[in-house]
Amino acid sequence: MKNKYDVIIIGAGITGLMISYKLSHYNLRVLVIERNPEPGWGVSRGHAAVVHVVQLPFKSLKSKLARAGNKELLRICKELGVRHRITSTLILATKFYHFLALPFVYLYLKMNLKGFEVKLRGRRSLLREEPALSPKILGGIEVKGYAVVDSFDLIYGLYEFSRVNGVEFAFEEEVRSIEYNGTVKVITDKGEYESNYLINAAGLWADEIFKLTGGEMKFELGKGVMVVFDKAVSERLLAPLYLKADPKTKGGAIMFTHDGRGLWGPNLRLTHSKDDISADETDLEILLKKFSKLIRVDPGIPLKAYAGIRPIPPQNDFVLERSGDKIIHVLGTESPGFTASPALSELVIKMLTESGLRVEEKPVSKRRRFERARDDPKSARGRVICFCNLVTEDEIREAVRRGSKTLKGVFYRTGACMGTCQGSRCLADVLEIVADELKVNPRSIKFDGDGSWIVT
Ligand SMILES: Cc1cc2nc3c(=O)[nH]c(=O)nc-3n(C[C@H](O)[C@H](O)[C@H](O)COP(=O)(O)OP(=O)(O)OC[C@H]3O[C@@H](n4cnc5c(N)ncnc54)[C@H](O)[C@@H]3O)c2cc1C
Repeated sequence: MKNKYDVIIIGAGITGLMISYKLSHYNLRVLVIERNPEPGWGVSRGHAAVVHVVQLPFKSLKSKLARAGNKELLRICKELGVRHRITSTLILATKFYHFLALPFVYLYLKMNLKGFEVKLRGRRSLLREEPALSPKILGGIEVKGYAVVDSFDLIYGLYEFSRVNGVEFAFEEEVRSIEYNGTVKVITDKGEYESNYLINAAGLWADEIFKLTGGEMKFELGKGVMVVFDKAVSERLLAPLYLKADPKTKGGAIMFTHDGRGLWGPNLRLTHSKDDISADETDLEILLKKFSKLIRVDPGIPLKAYAGIRPIPPQNDFVLERSGDKIIHVLGTESPGFTASPALSELVIKMLTESGLRVEEKPVSKRRRFERARDDPKSARGRVICFCNLVTEDEIREAVRRGSKTLKGVFYRTGACMGTCQGSRCLADVLEIVADELKVNPRSIKFDGDGSWIVT
């Protein structure tokens, strides 16, 4: 039967794509259904892309899976040619009683972070190695094993690897109902599919898919705002020491992106709408107040602020639920779901095999790396279109050839229009090239979906 699969995955965020990447190593017919035109436009669009180590409480599933997923995520980045930068986090004491507590916090971290290097750091060497640090820093703890990743390249890398190894994708299809009668029937706004197994990896909307199968879970919606600055101020991620852990967040940090922009946040504010990805002055004030005290330098020009929403379940942890023996729900993929995704996927596949899915390895093909001018400017070809992020015409055309039809997809794939000028210089050129590559009129090019034309 044409529309019959071994496994259907709902959602092409980092969770769904990591599961599809892993399943693409086996002889299985797999389909991913995603309502957006491209992968990674849900919560996985707006996070900090930090590969974490410290996640409290250490005994929670999310903490265990983050530690387990940490190294595998970096291995996958290397395999797929995804840009990333290895770093560490400095947990910094600015108050005298925090300074006195440092040895105890150090021992606690050391005991719980087996396999990761943890060091007590003195004030003088810290100030020497990180000149931007405030002279008020009294000392700190360095935790190694962190990294920052080009998360869009990882999303597209997992997608392209899955596709080249046989996984099918149904984009711009929304799952509307699910029927289960021995096999699973998934009904979308465009068609029907049958499958032996179904995985709900719908992230922020996983509660709604859970409900379609009779389940009930209410997420708290924890909005987190990130502020992007034109430059990074440090070589390491900088976090203030807290003695009383907030159960809902690690507390954020002064961070940076893989390509050297400053990134501060996230904060945590509860919201009532899954669409509320607004950021306002209060968010900016909270972040500046919280982190400015760690540094003595000007953080640079704030380029933009963006927000993402964490789906926080009552357990305040990742939850894996079954509906019958053929449907698995991945619920509560809040932070650090990006870091944990390889280990979380392993757990889901283990649950599938326990329910009878037979997996048989097959030879796989590699993902063709997306070469970037900014990685090797001397060998770059073609006209430079985005000067802020050094993106060439060739790269924009390549993004279209790899499947992007919208401007948002091209921006995410290439980094064009995402630099200091935020597209004010190059947007029109990008639009023209996309239209030319797709051989359509520029008027038909959309920003992201229906009703988002740029040229009218
Ligand atoms: C501000 C912020 C910062 C963060 N920073 C980090 C970090 O630095 N490191 C880290 O490890 N984690 C971080 N996280 C957590 C991380 O972003 C998430 O855990 C992760 O992105 C969740 O991915 P997901 O695939 O589960 O969900 P999503 O990315 O939301 O994917 C779900 C997909 O399902 C699709 N979908 C939903 N309903 C349907 C339907 N009915 N039919 C078809 N498709 C559907 C959606 O369109 C979406 O694409 C952060 C989170 C936030 C909010």
